Amino acid sequence: MRFGFDIDDTLINLREHAFHVYNKKLNTNLDLTVFNNINRVEIHEPFGLSDEEGNEMWKNTLEEIYFTDCPPFPGAVKAIQKLHNDGHDIYYITARPKEHGEATRDWVKNQGFPVENDQFFYGMKDDEKVHIIQDLKLDYYVDDKPAILDTLKNEKTKLLMKDQPYNQHVKGFTRMIDWNDFQSIITQE
Ligand SMILES: [Mg+2]
Repeated sequence: MRFGFDIDDTLINLREHAFHVYNKKLNTNLDLTVFNNINRVEIHEPFGLSDEEGNEMWKNTLEEIYFTDCPPFPGAVKAIQKLHNDGHDIYYITARPKEHGEATRDWVKNQGFPVENDQFFYGMKDDEKVHIIQDLKLDYYVDDKPAILDTLKNEKTKLLMKDQPYNQHVKGFTRMIDWNDFQSIITQE
């Protein structure tokens, strides 16, 4: 089968990692409970930053956020390795900017995820992901963003939503809360 995955906040815990980076950069010491109560994708609000300042902060710290030690979610590497070992095709589709695409691919490989170079897509806008996913004729696709999954609702691809505080209001998708349960979720589907 053909499996597709978003990367940030689906396979890896990027927002929480960015939260730690912000704490360091801004000399603050906000607690993880604060992080856990942010119910939007952007994390700048508790740091007292406006949307504009938050945007700047994100851009200015992007490389540190992307290429340091952001942890994969528990069980994620193992789950994807198992698919690979079972002979399935693994595709990664990330909206990370083009200029960071190859470094991201290398970084993802270094975390232990099985990556074929021609099965790694980057640099598209969120709303362009749909075309790539359609062309790949994926059997499964996992993402954390409701807007992306919504654009795929009428496709044959089975959609899983990585559970996040900011997608709690969305109904109608199978939720992936823990990567350790991935195998049993796809066997039940
Ligand atoms: Mg994502």
